[in-house]
Amino acid sequence: METYETLREEFDRKVEALRERCTHPKVSGWMVEWWAPAHSTGHEVKACEICGMVVNRRANCSKCGRLLEEKEFVYGKGDTRPTSEVFCQACEDKWREFTKGHPYVPRVIEVTVHATDGSIYTEKRTLDEGMHYMEVYEEFMKERGK
Ligand SMILES: [Zn+2]
Ligand SMILES: [Zn+2]
Repeated sequence: METYETLREEFDRKVEALRERCTHPKVSGWMVEWWAPAHSTGHEVKACEICGMVVNRRANCSKCGRLLEEKEFVYGKGDTRPTSEVFCQACEDKWREFTKGHPYVPRVIEVTVHATDGSIYTEKRTLDEGMHYMEVYEEFMKERGK
């Protein structure tokens, strides 16, 4: 019996086969890539007009704004900066230097807690490494063009 699921599997298989055969003879101009309506991935892509495959990708460095080819992309590792943000190698090097100057030292911060029973109170917590680097990242991004 045909179901949505089997039709989708068939579609995926056919697209995959088409992409394997295709030599991408006609390629679009640069287009903004969307992961959802009104949400750009921050990348621009060129896609094959026959099979729809993305054949080229570019993005601006989040820090210095230089336009980068895909092979120049340096993504965040997720531990010190957001994984989705693209840097050029020079900015990645600067970021690593910057983080060395702002090492993680556990410190106690005061946070406001909104409890499920509706009460609000402050609590002392230890700032974790992820939160620390989020702050450092914000500071780094404020220093434009340095
Ligand atoms: Zn193609
Ligand atoms: Zn850069």
